[in-house]
Amino acid sequence: MMKKVLTTCPYCGVGCNFYLDVRDERIVGVIPAKSNPVSKGYLCVKGWHAHEPVQHPDRLKKPLLKENGRFKEVSWDTALDYVAKRLKGIKDKYGPDSLAVCASARCTNEENYLMMKFARAVLGTNNVDHCARTCHAATVSGLNQSFGSGASTNSYDELPYMDCILIIGSNPTEAHPIVGWRVRTAIDNGAKVIVCDPRRILPAESAELYIQQYPGTDIALINAMINFILKENLHDKEFIEKRTEGFDELRQAVSDYTPESAAEITGVEPEAIKKAARIYASSKKACIMYSLGMTEHTVGTNNIISMANLAMVTGHVGKEFSGLYPMRGQNNVQGACDMGALPNVFSGYQSVTDGEVRKKFESAWGVKLPEAAGLTLTDMMFKAIEGKLKCFYIIGEDQVRTDPDTHMIERALKSLEFLVVHEIFLTETAKLADVVLPGASYAEKEGTFTCAERRFQRVRRAIEPISGKTDGDIIIEVSKRLGYEMESEPSKICDEMASLSPIYSGVSFERIEESGLQWPVPAKDHPGTPVVHLGQFRRGLGKFIPVTHKPPAEVPDREYPFILSTGRLLFHYNTGTMTTRVSNLLREFPRNFVEINPDDAKAIGIRSNAKVKVVTRRGELVVSAQVTDKVKRRVIWMPFHYSNEPTNVLTNSAFDPVCRTGEYKACAAKIEKI
Ligand code: SF4
Repeated sequence: MMKKVLTTCPYCGVGCNFYLDVRDERIVGVIPAKSNPVSKGYLCVKGWHAHEPVQHPDRLKKPLLKENGRFKEVSWDTALDYVAKRLKGIKDKYGPDSLAVCASARCTNEENYLMMKFARAVLGTNNVDHCARTCHAATVSGLNQSFGSGASTNSYDELPYMDCILIIGSNPTEAHPIVGWRVRTAIDNGAKVIVCDPRRILPAESAELYIQQYPGTDIALINAMINFILKENLHDKEFIEKRTEGFDELRQAVSDYTPESAAEITGVEPEAIKKAARIYASSKKACIMYSLGMTEHTVGTNNIISMANLAMVTGHVGKEFSGLYPMRGQNNVQGACDMGALPNVFSGYQSVTDGEVRKKFESAWGVKLPEAAGLTLTDMMFKAIEGKLKCFYIIGEDQVRTDPDTHMIERALKSLEFLVVHEIFLTETAKLADVVLPGASYAEKEGTFTCAERRFQRVRRAIEPISGKTDGDIIIEVSKRLGYEMESEPSKICDEMASLSPIYSGVSFERIEESGLQWPVPAKDHPGTPVVHLGQFRRGLGKFIPVTHKPPAEVPDREYPFILSTGRLLFHYNTGTMTTRVSNLLREFPRNFVEINPDDAKAIGIRSNAKVKVVTRRGELVVSAQVTDKVKRRVIWMPFHYSNEPTNVLTNSAFDPVCRTGEYKACAAKIEKI
């Protein structure tokens, strides 16, 4: 039997749609969807191969239970009974807050909603979080403070019509290629693109201006741009007057950051800073696109606030063809946040500490809910090492490979009394589990994902779950064994979520069937919201918040003279769990490597492809050197996609005190010739 099933790409947060070509229960290919408003008939190389890992022979098919340090296959009933018994035992013995849950940006909105409900209503804890903690938590905390809402302000379709796109700490060509294509179209249409990145990424080649700041110096750079904009009288006085508050404090704070003083911090010529400021401020339609290069710092939240300040001072937000585009990494990291897979909010960003909100959820769910905010993922790890967190229930995340400072994460997970992992492949994290429950891929489930432009889109089942159950089914069955029944039909879970979350009230499977809906969607007849903060910010007035430069937690010294930064490649995705199982993708970039500037390579005495040892205070890794002027002197760069050559043994778990995200993008390192 042949069928074509329209669904949403499982990789990055752009949210392209394609048809899965299914023949006799085998997915044989991918066909782009022309009618989809996000991808318009295009896909990147990962999307074209997105069907291949689904039926890979390595897929887990049966539950695994560890006995005497070895896994054995068991029946679903045995595994689920055991998980329920251990969860209950730990809750009874140590209390609900000794348990924690990690939801998944790879799973559907409905599964994330179930998971946060499971943590709160069944386990009785707000200890629920997910991988946004390691990527865009700074966006949520930063934009929330400045605008009152922590998501993209505008839509992809505005990009080709911009006069100026300021890309900072983001590599759309490789990490978000279908958005990168729109940036390319904007350039073809005459837009001036300014790229600010410690690494000379591909968009820099066709940019009007390329700025190569040192990692971790973005606030100095942006404050200097604001300083120059004010000095040259390029700011939007009417916008500042009518739409914002706190301008005097901002003016005072940036007064120290002249382009000349910022040059010393950033390593960027003052004239380049002035040129960037002039282009951005004097363009009529201008936006900022950013990603993890801005968020994964100990000053991640302040980085985001500084960009919000820049956008407001020039009036480039709160209208069409302007705004901020936080490019989300994972397919459904936006949705997992929206669904309340966070320790402080229910779905729709409703605070767990607000009595009225809690009462609403208590009445809908028929249980008493915990009152205090829970632990972040970062703090869960510390509490596990301290022995205060006893049990961790993880869905579809490989923390051992994704989180900074691998050895610390392994120590944390090994300290637990009980670890449950849902996975589709036996990842490094799954290997540490007491029970592994085989979950389902995107192609085996019904539901929705929400992409980086706040668009709910459908995910549709092409084949039956390979293990017999989806992740949603598993949560529901564990919950039932703990005495709490939950709705199992994905469209009805969506309806329940919408009924409890005012900003998604108008969302339903029926309404998003065609081309999705961009939230806020506050009513059943509301058309969705392509541009937010029109006329008024969600918090009322936009708030200027003064922020100042603070160096990364680790700066180079005599022993560790380099700054190590990390990032993505076009051909791979996160820890490579799926993409390294696709031969065409692996062929292009089969191994990890480190990029090093030619002058530094000469000083060490190495050439391209020579084996080197990269060492930081946390670990070391032998990889091949790629000698390139993409990075400036004293800066090295590595991708993080290789599970058998894991870059995160090197990265620093020092974190932003507000959003608790680790500093992946800057740590001190040395390189040894082998
Ligand atoms: Fe998938 Fe992202 Fe590529 Fe689109 S750009 S096909 S969503 S990986």
